[in-house]
Amino acid sequence: MLEAGVGELAHDPGRRLVSGGHVGRSERVAVIGVGILGASVGCNLSRQGAEVVFIDAGRPGEGVTNWSFSWVNASNKTGRRSYFDLNVAGMAAYRELAETIGPDSWWHPSGHLRWAGDTAAEAKLLETAELLAGWDYRVEVCTGAEVRRRLEPALRVPAKTPVLFYPDEAWVHGRHLVGRLVGRAVESGAEHRFGTAARNIGIGPDGSVRTVTLSDGSCLDVDVVVNAAGPSASQVAGLIARHLPMRREPGVVTRLGCAQVPVHRAMHAPHIEIRPDGDASVVLHSREIDAVIDTGEDPVELARQLHEAAKHVVPELGNARVAQTRIAYRPIPADGFPSVGAVPSVPGYYEAVSHSGITLGPVIGRLLATEILSGKRDEMLADFRPERFPQ
Ligand SMILES: Cc1cc2nc3c(=O)[nH]c(=O)nc-3n(C[C@H](O)[C@H](O)[C@H](O)COP(=O)(O)OP(=O)(O)OC[C@H]3O[C@@H](n4cnc5c(N)ncnc54)[C@H](O)[C@@H]3O)c2cc1C
Repeated sequence: MLEAGVGELAHDPGRRLVSGGHVGRSERVAVIGVGILGASVGCNLSRQGAEVVFIDAGRPGEGVTNWSFSWVNASNKTGRRSYFDLNVAGMAAYRELAETIGPDSWWHPSGHLRWAGDTAAEAKLLETAELLAGWDYRVEVCTGAEVRRRLEPALRVPAKTPVLFYPDEAWVHGRHLVGRLVGRAVESGAEHRFGTAARNIGIGPDGSVRTVTLSDGSCLDVDVVVNAAGPSASQVAGLIARHLPMRREPGVVTRLGCAQVPVHRAMHAPHIEIRPDGDASVVLHSREIDAVIDTGEDPVELARQLHEAAKHVVPELGNARVAQTRIAYRPIPADGFPSVGAVPSVPGYYEAVSHSGITLGPVIGRLLATEILSGKRDEMLADFRPERFPQ
């Protein structure tokens, strides 16, 4: 059905753009930025027959996607119902993806643990758990003793402390998943240009996207551009003279190398977040430590503080060594919500920019590919449209 439509609409022999801004299977789409979002959109497009060219200034999956806590969840997204629902859809999209492409090293559906260090914070967590249970989100209230017996023997958590267990949550190895998605897209014919940045987006006399010029001097004829440049998305939007306001919020992540990984799942303990990162590594993050980054703290000192906090919760991590630390910027549009979809004033230009991009990558990839290919705008993205930011 789609191909018939393309035949009817591709009326200008000099142009491949289908009227209305969406494309058919023979159109060429440049995906600028190949983290979890770009890889997901590009893979969905390529598997459905579009001609995709991935462009990344560095290596795929080595942007913020590789420096994320990578927790797949909706329990931390209760502020706005439509955002919560989108994140729940993100969790479901992961389960489908794991069935489609196979789980291997990227998918870890081991649930998530959360507990607090004082009674006020504990009351808040329990209140959120009650709200979530009312929204049919699975959560179990355990005690510290039960958690140590059933799930995580290496934890130091007081026996009577209430611990929330979210069995449907997960963590993802972002870089490995990006590799899988790009590989699948390439099998379907996608091209890639890695190690070269998009420097210019050419607009035709009709106002639609025509070319992308790269820092290596080459110029690609394209019909569609997807801006999936993560923390650099506002610079890429600037190439079409669009103002995409974004927050500047750094976060620090440390990888510890350890002979044996003493934890089995992602967890939010008081002052520290901990998750496994494969067979010989653990990832640490803390919102409290993120808050002091702009005061000029040395990353080595930040890593030391993260390690210190982790040892209080998992004493065995005392034997681990700090392997890598990186400060990364969260790709957050100014109001805190994703910017996903077409910018109607520039036919052929689309955005896929979001925090919680690990949780949302597969669902945004699927919804945006459908929008690009068919022009159909999904209701689930209604609150997250790029046009809410006035030009
Ligand atoms: C500390 C921290 C913790 C987080 N924890 C979580 C979490 O637990 N759960 C969750 O869901 N989310 C979390 N996030 C957010 C999540 O990591 C991001 O939303 C997600 O990784 C964004 O992916 P992306 O593909 O948009 O960006 P990226 O992975 O950064 O990819 C963008 C790519 O664009 C490329 N690029 C930039 N400019 C250009 C250009 N001009 N030309 C070509 N290429 C370009 C870059 O090289 C990069 O590879 C966290 C983020 C941080 C910083």
